[in-house]
Amino acid sequence: MVQKHRARQLHYDFRLEIGGVLKSWSVPKGPSLDPSVKRLAVAVEDHPVDYAEFEGVIPEGEYGAGTVMVWDRGTYEPNNGTDVADALRKGQLTFTLHGRKLKGRWSLIRLRGRHWLLIKLRDRYASSKDISAAAPKSVLTGRTLAQIAADEGGDVVKAASGDPPRRTRRR
Ligand code: MN
Repeated sequence: MVQKHRARQLHYDFRLEIGGVLKSWSVPKGPSLDPSVKRLAVAVEDHPVDYAEFEGVIPEGEYGAGTVMVWDRGTYEPNNGTDVADALRKGQLTFTLHGRKLKGRWSLIRLRGRHWLLIKLRDRYASSKDISAAAPKSVLTGRTLAQIAADEGGDVVKAASGDPPRRTRRR
């Protein structure tokens, strides 16, 4: 699952369930469907599996203060025969996503330390479409970040800065 998180900086928290936890990476620019675009993914602490349901506002003063959206969710499959924990230890995991927005084959490759790259592999789901602009809303509730903040007592102006600019309608 992927949470879009307007904290101090906008980022996307990419999470894979393994061994009863959510292994997590913070992706500042969000996933790209374009195989030629490699997105930095910074490994962050594991999260409990039930955190995947969380959409709302983290209060000011707490870690990650800001607005959280469930941006995508679904299942993933490692390549046949891959031991996910072992692949992550070795710094290279290839897997197939069956999300609402993210589908097909992807790789996570460790550069050094906590720095990884999240890369779309070439398949029929690869595209030059800017998925974060084309599909900016919650897969749980259909809300924008600004709507989540408004509903849950958060900072609407700050949250809105993580939503794509509203298009001007032309007649
Ligand atoms: Mn986050």
